[in-house]
Amino acid sequence: MSAQPHRGDGAAEAEQLVCPSCARVHPPHERFCADCGMPLVHAAREQRQPSARQRRARKIKPQYAEGELVKVARAQNETEARFLEGLLLEEGIPCLLRRSRGFDVAEMLAAGPRDVLVPASGAEAAREALAWDGGAGEADVST
Ligand SMILES: [Zn+2]
Repeated sequence: MSAQPHRGDGAAEAEQLVCPSCARVHPPHERFCADCGMPLVHAAREQRQPSARQRRARKIKPQYAEGELVKVARAQNETEARFLEGLLLEEGIPCLLRRSRGFDVAEMLAAGPRDVLVPASGAEAAREALAWDGGAGEADVST
């Protein structure tokens, strides 16, 4: 084993943004991934597990990562949102969890409902994967 000095940790990385689709890291002033156009998320929170994020990103199918983000479901809380995210990742669909509008006040950060957004090209597959209409009222008569 060669002892390589561990570099890249520290405050500088805390503000970096990462693409939820391809896990590519972007500087903090970027808002969208240069490759996928996905809105970037803060890398800091899950910084401890960069390889886990990359492993998940590798599962993602490129054909499900195109187009604008559309809402496919609404989760009641973060736990449910994470569960739905897991289901979608199993199908290779990248998704973005976003606090539902009107609930983004401090007390609700952990508990508030989340919108589950996926790229347009993955929306149909996502709805099938979830088999759940989320109460959005947009009846997508695709069956
Ligand atoms: Zn990307």
